[in-house]
Amino acid sequence: MTFPSSVLITGAGRGIGLGLVKEFLKNDQVKHVFAAVRCPTKADELTKLNDDRLHVIKMDVLYDESILEAFQKVEEICGEHGLNLLVNNAGIWVEYELSDGPKRDMLRKILDTNAASPLIVSQVFLPLLRRAASKSPETEWGIQKASIVNISSGMGSISENMTGSGCSKSIAYRMSKEINQMTRTLAIDLEPDGIMVVSWCPGWVKTDMGGLEAEITVDESAIDFMQTLSHFGKENTGGYVRRHGDSIDY
Ligand code: NDP
Repeated sequence: MTFPSSVLITGAGRGIGLGLVKEFLKNDQVKHVFAAVRCPTKADELTKLNDDRLHVIKMDVLYDESILEAFQKVEEICGEHGLNLLVNNAGIWVEYELSDGPKRDMLRKILDTNAASPLIVSQVFLPLLRRAASKSPETEWGIQKASIVNISSGMGSISENMTGSGCSKSIAYRMSKEINQMTRTLAIDLEPDGIMVVSWCPGWVKTDMGGLEAEITVDESAIDFMQTLSHFGKENTGGYVRRHGDSIDY
């Protein structure tokens, strides 16, 4: 398996993001793990990890200024090496009840967090991803070189939607997770730079969002992330995949 030298994960203080931080730190090839959280002083689980390679940085993905400040911190540390991997993980689940009438503010927040923010964060960090990409041969592709992984969901699939909103009043979440259009578009736009872009569904995971009945643990999901994505290359860019790498229909 190949691993990035540097990785940034948004929403890294709990759930799947925290699981990914722990999993990356298990590997010696990984030199810098940037765990981006809204409130570093409350990131107790991360502080406990006590690893010099871990940098807990502040980033609220809803605020451009916060994203730009995080960029500066990461650039100071990564310097000319750039950033190999950006994981857009931060997300929210909000039930949207049709019978309650219009709730525009609620819709804005979920679409902003889950759909707009991954694009803005990717845009801001692009110079560092490009810098990392320029250090490797053109023929090389993958998370060890330069990549964006958007944590999506099977619920973003249009063709697999057989339940409508029925599954926990999910219409707003489903709309917000249809970020696979962004993945595909960015993958085409960034192909000349050698930057891989993938949408990855982590499975149904036991977190605050996934709930206790979910199918797999955070650790299992994080291991699947490594095992699947560390084997991905040029042929996978633009893909929308499940945790073991099989494609999800758009
Ligand atoms: P959790 O609710 O457990 O964690 C969500 C994380 O996102 C938290 O770290 C939270 O930070 C962070 N976050 C939310 N809003 C913002 C923001 N504005 N700025 C920065 N960080 C923010 O969810 P999961 O770990 O389960 O989910 C992680 C990702 O995986 C999400 O994108 C989700 O949609 C996706 N996913 C999850 C599935 C599951 O079964 N769990 C299934 C499919 C996809 P804070 O602690 O500050 O609130």
